Amino acid sequence: MQVQSMFFKESASKKLNDAVLQKAMKKAKSKFVDGRAASVATIDNWEDIRTHAAALRDRVIANLDAYLIEFEKNAIRRGSVVHWAETAEEANAIIVEIARKNAVKTVTKSKSMVSEEISLNDALEAAGVKVLETDLGEYILQLAKEPPSHIVAPAVHKSKEQVAALFVAHHHKPLLTDISAMTREAREELRAHFLAADMGISGANFVIAETGTTLTVTNEGNADMVTTIPRIHCVITGIEKVIPTLEDFATLIRLLPRSAIGQSIANYLTLTTGVKQANEQEGPEQMHIVLVDAGRTKLLGDDMQSMLRCIRCGACMNHCPVYQNVGGHAYGWVYPGPMGSVLTPTYVGIENAGDLPNAATFCGECQVVCPVKIPLPDLMRKLREKQFDLHLRPFSERFAIQVWAFFVKRPVLYSFASRMGARLAAWMGGREKLIHKLPGIDGWTDGRDMPAPEGKTFKELYRKKYASRKTNP
Ligand code: SF4
Repeated sequence: MQVQSMFFKESASKKLNDAVLQKAMKKAKSKFVDGRAASVATIDNWEDIRTHAAALRDRVIANLDAYLIEFEKNAIRRGSVVHWAETAEEANAIIVEIARKNAVKTVTKSKSMVSEEISLNDALEAAGVKVLETDLGEYILQLAKEPPSHIVAPAVHKSKEQVAALFVAHHHKPLLTDISAMTREAREELRAHFLAADMGISGANFVIAETGTTLTVTNEGNADMVTTIPRIHCVITGIEKVIPTLEDFATLIRLLPRSAIGQSIANYLTLTTGVKQANEQEGPEQMHIVLVDAGRTKLLGDDMQSMLRCIRCGACMNHCPVYQNVGGHAYGWVYPGPMGSVLTPTYVGIENAGDLPNAATFCGECQVVCPVKIPLPDLMRKLREKQFDLHLRPFSERFAIQVWAFFVKRPVLYSFASRMGARLAAWMGGREKLIHKLPGIDGWTDGRDMPAPEGKTFKELYRKKYASRKTNP
């Protein structure tokens, strides 16, 4: 997927004026936020599980090579072929080659964010392979020719009416208004494709080292159809998805659906271990597992390493006031919200990430809800520092920070300048006590007035209050 993150500000402004999007985001917010809160409240030791999961993910990251090799050994033992892709191009080339060698003409696919990262569908289509997305949200977006706007609910930005119109245009059937009927119609459309596909491609939420198993968590059952019906099954996943044991999965699955959409357990947990055996009725004749790096190893030993803990639940974006208002497309790449503000600069280059590290209010809610305790605000702060050091921020911003740094290192001068600033701001507010325009930081006052301060610094106000307490105990 082409990176458009440098246009975040312009794109966010447009999204704020998109009435359909605003309605959809409002609906999604209450579903995700309230759903998670209610679900988490039913677990007494939620914080202990988070702590345990964060430590587990850290242990995996510290020993990533060993767990990946163990996974490879056990996957091969069960008849899978394991491929290693250092770059997006390599991953695409591997999968296109598998398709070419096996004369694959049609592919059914379940949701995979890694495949979005590497633009796998485009690579397969260019090689003459027809790809059909089978996750309902992804299917809708494939019809609409749009990228996902959320990692768990890809079509969350679409209204029911927009989906109904898409179905009429593509299915050539009467207009439906009931969501269940629309879902049934999509299932009917997809069924024949499930049965006829030459190859199934799935992502993996986790891969398990001790058994060589790949694991997919879904709510629609489409991953089961994709992984078992076609003669070839290809799994594409990031190298950080490995976990040591099935027992570790039992820990993580307590966190994942609850954090994602407030579900105690997902509808389908699909565990796939190798190819169809002689005594089995179902399963693929070939199973290929493509382990993708595409920038992940760059995070090892880096300030951003803790980001590799991510289990892609989406809770950070669901609770982010910026995401809640602008939706996922504004972020300009595969991963939106706070996790995207960290992953995009690290995967595609900080110079291509534009304002993403600044696309946060730093309320800290993302860190509070992250099931694996990733310190997202800290990571974004570090990325801001990097952008500053690399001169990637506008001159006016860097100059302002340098001026501020000059004063803050000289307390007497700083105190004097803040007193003058507070008085000036009070004067600018006039009788209305409202500042209509702040030169240099117009972004704050373009859409609203700023209440003028009292004309005193915090220290002055504090001293006044403290003195009055002393005289009136
Ligand atoms: S950063 Fe945390 S909250 Fe966000 S998607 Fe990853 S695991 Fe979930």
